[in-house]
Amino acid sequence: MSDALLTYEEAASLVARHARALAPLAAVRIPLAEAAGRVLAEPILADTDQPPFPRSTRDGYACRAAEANARAALSLAGATRAGDPPPPPLDPGSCRQIMTGAPVPEGADAVAMLEHVEQIGKAKTSAIRLAPPRTLDPGENIVPRAAQARAGDTLLAPGVRIGPAHIALAAACGYAQLSVYLRPRVAILTTGDELVSVDATPGPGHIRNSNAPMLAALVAAAGGDPLVLPTAADSAEALDAALAAALDAAHPADLLLISGGVSAGTHDLVEPALARRGAQFHFTGIRIQPGKPLVFGTLPPSGKNENRATPFFGLPGNPISTAATFRLFAATILQALAGVAQPSPRFVAARLAGKAKSKPGLTRFLPAVCNFAGPAAPLPTVELVPWHGSGDLSAFALANCFLVVPPPDEALHDGDLVRILPL
Ligand code: AMP
Ligand code: MG
Repeated sequence: MSDALLTYEEAASLVARHARALAPLAAVRIPLAEAAGRVLAEPILADTDQPPFPRSTRDGYACRAAEANARAALSLAGATRAGDPPPPPLDPGSCRQIMTGAPVPEGADAVAMLEHVEQIGKAKTSAIRLAPPRTLDPGENIVPRAAQARAGDTLLAPGVRIGPAHIALAAACGYAQLSVYLRPRVAILTTGDELVSVDATPGPGHIRNSNAPMLAALVAAAGGDPLVLPTAADSAEALDAALAAALDAAHPADLLLISGGVSAGTHDLVEPALARRGAQFHFTGIRIQPGKPLVFGTLPPSGKNENRATPFFGLPGNPISTAATFRLFAATILQALAGVAQPSPRFVAARLAGKAKSKPGLTRFLPAVCNFAGPAAPLPTVELVPWHGSGDLSAFALANCFLVVPPPDEALHDGDLVRILPL
């Protein structure tokens, strides 16, 4: 293994640097209901103070805390429900029945919960008293006007991948439509003489092309628009034609993913083909396993992409290597093109159950099962999936994460604190 190869950390920060330099694509307006999973391209502003009035968080009685704490009998001065207009100011010595979400009257500084008061006298609705030993703090059970936001405040910045909470916030602020970035078009070129399509029966020595549909799914999950190209044979002519079709197309790709043909075998012709298109290589191979032959580079502007260089990855063809290197590196570039503010894989801490062998000089990313629903333990536990190398799709299908095994010589042991990359 060449020491000249970058470590995982070096390769990751190089990719992150390239990601930061990429501008997102154009923005479009879409209905709010279709915005989940897209990337926000405009700030979300509060259109009013939020809440727009002092709001009760409980069903109970709006009152003055000092009077309630003195166990005064508070005469009942009407009721306000959510949706009612703000009530008149509260007279001293009185209270107002109030429901969750309703405006609190001026003069009241707390809401006593329904369960914490006692009725005085027979007439059920005449007066109440705070039941001992309960006390009320000023401000208790009230969200003051504008506590969450002032009109005009920026509540969300562009670059957020839109989830349910963002949809709710945008709805609360009156956004029936949102401006989102266009999804990057990601061309997927699989290479290999041995590949047949999913609907074909493989002949002797042939295998079905599983990377094309897997990469399409990975791209879609990462916020891209996959464009699966016809598989290219292992010949210079076939690769030249495939690259020309990808790069000179009417709608050229924003990112090019090539699978296979990068591992320095005699039929690994992808790098020379990229070089013939004027590719600049940022790295060719890194110290990780699986995925060591990974290639990252940029193709110069050409054809319809006359103003834009095209980043590309040459992903090793073994399916688990393909998936690992996509998630670890290509997804970061894809997210940057998609407008995500801080593109990066998201690692999570877990506790190892069992052992994991390290390999000196290599950072390993091994298929593993994390029990996220673990009982009282403070961290989820993670266990390796037994596998037969990076082509073992049945093992990979059982995994829900990659376990990160750092390069130092020592193996990881039962109970060690580890990092995982959820799938
Ligand atoms: P390569 O990177 O081209 O040397 O391929 C490494 C291994 O991955 C070989 O065993 C290939 O048969 C396999 N492989 C390459 N491309 C694909 C693909 N698209 N689908 C499934 N397996 C593949
Ligand atoms: Mg190959």
